[in-house]
Amino acid sequence: MSIFENVIKIDSNDNIIFNNWIEWEHFGIPNKPDFLRQILRFLIALSGHCLMCTALDGCFFVERIMPKQPIHEKCDCKKKPVSFYKINNLAQANMPIEKLSKYIFSNDQNSKGKKSLFEKMGYTKDDIYNLQSQFKSQALNRYLSGNYILKNLDNYGQRVAIKITLNNHSFYSGWMLEPEGTIRNTTPFGGWVNEKI
Ligand SMILES: [Zn+2]
Repeated sequence: MSIFENVIKIDSNDNIIFNNWIEWEHFGIPNKPDFLRQILRFLIALSGHCLMCTALDGCFFVERIMPKQPIHEKCDCKKKPVSFYKINNLAQANMPIEKLSKYIFSNDQNSKGKKSLFEKMGYTKDDIYNLQSQFKSQALNRYLSGNYILKNLDNYGQRVAIKITLNNHSFYSGWMLEPEGTIRNTTPFGGWVNEKI
């Protein structure tokens, strides 16, 4: 996929959509290292800066798919333009293998029926590394082309839903946005596409 396909998209009505990327900014919060980021988030929370806002600091959004600023009265959050070139270089998808080995393919009781659901799609526990790499590459590509849906925002950060297609079955997976374009899988299966999520 070329970089331009991710920046300029054509929708189903042949309209050109430009993905204008921004970085969420809250003063005083470094993007990394994570331990320092978390300490500073809690320290400035003591002087009244909300954890929801500081969790968003450093996250990359397509401007038309981001939480509305200001988030609350006296919100200090800002946004600054960021080049897609930078985002494309930094962005990565993380998915702990335990999401598949210990959750989906544990047993049906623990996985709330997800084990049989993945088996019906044609996968077993032997496929966890293949599945992990498909989840990561599909989610990253869709995030980078602006194909994500905003879900819950709380003190831990912004969750998004991203479509995954496996063996012709399409469903939503849940991801947490982290600074500098990292997306971390929280929910492998969040509901079929076309279902309300
Ligand atoms: Zn704010």
